[in-house]
Amino acid sequence: MAFDHLRTELAQKASQSLLRKRTAFVAGAGRYLVSDEKRFLNFASNDYLGLAEHPKVIAAWKHGADKFGVGSGGSYLITGYAKAHQSLEEKLAHYTGQQKAILFSSGFAANSAVLHALLSKHDLLVQDKLNHASLIDSGLDSAAKMVRFKHNDVDSLNQQLSRDASNKLVVTEGVFSMDGDQAPINDIAGTCNKHDAWLMVDDAHAFGVTGKGKGSLASVLPMAIRIYMATFGKALGVSGAFVAGSDELVEYLLQYGRHYIYTTAMPPAQACAIEAALSLAFDEEAWRRDELNRLISQFRFKAQAENIPLMDSKTAIQPVLLGSVKRTLEIGERLKRRGFWVGTIRPPTVPEGAARLRITLSASHKPEDIDKLVAALAEELNDVGV
Ligand code: PMP
Repeated sequence: MAFDHLRTELAQKASQSLLRKRTAFVAGAGRYLVSDEKRFLNFASNDYLGLAEHPKVIAAWKHGADKFGVGSGGSYLITGYAKAHQSLEEKLAHYTGQQKAILFSSGFAANSAVLHALLSKHDLLVQDKLNHASLIDSGLDSAAKMVRFKHNDVDSLNQQLSRDASNKLVVTEGVFSMDGDQAPINDIAGTCNKHDAWLMVDDAHAFGVTGKGKGSLASVLPMAIRIYMATFGKALGVSGAFVAGSDELVEYLLQYGRHYIYTTAMPPAQACAIEAALSLAFDEEAWRRDELNRLISQFRFKAQAENIPLMDSKTAIQPVLLGSVKRTLEIGERLKRRGFWVGTIRPPTVPEGAARLRITLSASHKPEDIDKLVAALAEELNDVGV
């Protein structure tokens, strides 16, 4: 029978406890999530600065909808491009110190657009082994030869770059989404320079958060990162993404980026909300970053005192490495019963044997939320013998 493998593959995933499940929440996106039966403290979202429910961001979205309607009505190059998009792009260029910025509906689309548009068959693409699926998949589908370097290992990068190619592009994340550690951007930029390679940084988990909000751009001159990509679905609490760089890069993406040209533009009202979130993150409420950093220190200090197996992360992403899928799901379920929602991450999102809880902290949390989570986590880990 045609497509029989659908049933067999799903059954196989189920037998390995690898089937993913969704929960439809009825309210909440910040500190709490509410399902039909229960309210949970939310330690699984990427709303690092607590802006997803910010009244000014919500008001900006409503105001934008009153002015522009709820949708953009077309693609950017036909009628979908509004002043709201243009104004947001200008602010992004300003905050990143790059010449220009261009919007995308998602980070996945932005990464795909860049790798498909820029690379051809005589080019070399060199990616960190732990880069996000959108980068790896788009790299494999691109025309270039793709190789990977060992995670955060500049010697390994140097070796991979010694191959001959017409153009070389290196791609790393700024903060790694599943480990929470940071790339050595300065050393990577130096190595790229030595090999005449361009550096692209996916700063989805860093923009607005690390380096006083400038993410990886805080460690180098803006020019060192030729292609800067970040998303609006994390620290800014909305969704969508942008790429910033030279006039030429942005013009090239506008002419050749198929994920930009052949898609409906982001609703202008959404661009209004993102612009409001941007000024809160960078100017009006920069204290949110300090608050987040205080909560991160508190979490690490208390969790270490309880011998909870943390990873080497200084960011809002604090994974607890458990290894076994069954144990990870079990602890996740036990925490849910106690009113805490944490991410349970399994292969293929992380390597085999590296299943983990992905705990994310947010400026919307209160210090007592952190204490309660650590106490519950320590008890449950003890109970199952970790
Ligand atoms: N890059 C990284 C590092 C990510 O973590 C994600 C999403 N989680 C993306 C890209 C994709 O972004 P988006 O969700 O906007 O498609």
